[in-house]
Amino acid sequence: MPASTQILNEQFIDNAWVPSRSKTSRPVFDPYRETLIAEVTCGDPADIDAAVAAARRALSSWRTTPEPRRGKCLQAIAVGLETRRQALAELSSRNNGKPLVEAYQDLDDAIACYRYYAEAAVALGDRQGTVEDTGQPDLEARQYWDPIGVVGLITPWNFPLVSSAWKLAPALAAGCTVVFKPSEVTPLPEQVLAEIVIEAGLPPGVFNLLQGDGEGIGAPLSRHPGIDKLSFTGSNTVGEAVMRAAAQGVRPVSLELGGKSPILVTEDADIELARDLVMAGICYNAGQMCSATSRLLVHERLADDLYAAIDASMAALRLGDPLAAETDMGPLVSALQRDRVQNYIALAKEEGLHSETPTLSLPEQGFFVAPRLYREVPTTSRLWREEIFGPVLCVRRVADDAEAIALANDSDFGLAATVVTGDPDRAEAIARHLEAGNVWCNSDQVAPPQGSWGGMKCSGIGRELGQAGLDAYLESKRITRPLSS
Ligand code: NAD
Repeated sequence: MPASTQILNEQFIDNAWVPSRSKTSRPVFDPYRETLIAEVTCGDPADIDAAVAAARRALSSWRTTPEPRRGKCLQAIAVGLETRRQALAELSSRNNGKPLVEAYQDLDDAIACYRYYAEAAVALGDRQGTVEDTGQPDLEARQYWDPIGVVGLITPWNFPLVSSAWKLAPALAAGCTVVFKPSEVTPLPEQVLAEIVIEAGLPPGVFNLLQGDGEGIGAPLSRHPGIDKLSFTGSNTVGEAVMRAAAQGVRPVSLELGGKSPILVTEDADIELARDLVMAGICYNAGQMCSATSRLLVHERLADDLYAAIDASMAALRLGDPLAAETDMGPLVSALQRDRVQNYIALAKEEGLHSETPTLSLPEQGFFVAPRLYREVPTTSRLWREEIFGPVLCVRRVADDAEAIALANDSDFGLAATVVTGDPDRAEAIARHLEAGNVWCNSDQVAPPQGSWGGMKCSGIGRELGQAGLDAYLESKRITRPLSS
């Protein structure tokens, strides 16, 4: 094992690192250099007992901490991230394989999220006790919002520090205490949150971080009776397991799951804008985005020109060291993820799918997959219907908007969509028909903290970010009493 390999065999409970009860660990790789950079504990259900007990002890005091004070802690977490911005971006890029510029964008998104919920905490305090109509002259009602309690937060590997910010910031603003499990594939960036929350002045037990895999921590955390709510981001298979586990004890869940999002391009669209949005939608983070627009539906008049433009852009991408400034696309996060995507490419060959994308020569090291576009993919193909989570774009030409909308909605998923047209009213009209939680018209996939994020159909339950993201950690309570009392 190289001397620089980090050993993550402790859990952060009650503001202190304590040894994990688990005797097993997993390797953590730099997906570009294919080197071992850490060993992370698999975790053990006994770790969860300790973390949940700590979170439970901390709850009564944290939930009654005035909201502005909770907001101050969140501001301080934002400062902690900002102070470490460069180091954390490099760490995230190294652990995940994403180009450094994307890792910086992640950091900025995470910082903005903590700032937003710092202010939302203050606003929550101002709202507490709002007088509400009772419909009866002799009764008055007041509205309050209580934290749900101890929450279990589970995140994937594709946006380290961002997926966690979308859960931690609103949960802490609401007054919940948390047991947080990051992905075992990218445990390094999240590990740093422990020192940040101590600096930020969070009392012991409010934030507990459990490293581990699905078996050691994820599944037993979902089942743990001391958890009042689960918020999960990840695959559909695991999301369903989390939901089943939460049914025991009727505990609420928020689920942010997979997608197979469409991008629709009409005949009056600016072709360069369309090409750039298609490229960003399928090549950002090497396509490992739940909101990847992996199905292109383009008007038949523009189709051949757009396909050629995308093929040329894909062929011009610079694949390489994620830490190098000139790199456009890094490797996939792991050998496993590369193999999953390669299996789809093998399937495309079996199905006789047609691609004219020039094959990029891959760097000698790293878990790379060259981006590619498959033309006129049958809607019955698994490549058209399943989330591939890599830089593989499936395309079809359509005769009109109605056909594009019908094909776009013909999916089990409903996370996101992009519309590219020359006419803003037409874009809005199409967007209104799409079954997706977010639709971007002639725009990049922006997800500001004041927005909302989440999917329809199999893409999930609930919304993160914005007011809905805070409400996900609150129970509303109405107190009614006679006016005279
Ligand atoms: P995954 O479902 O394999 O793992 C996600 C997390 O769940 C990890 O922390 C993992 O350790 C944990 N886990 C594994 N088994 C578990 C179990 N039985 N019970 C509880 N937790 C368990 O997903 P992944 O491969 O890390 O991430 C890719 C998936 O995440 C994709 O499907 C993608 O679409 C989805 N995703 C969705 C969004 C969104 O906002 N909708 C965002 C990012 C990723």
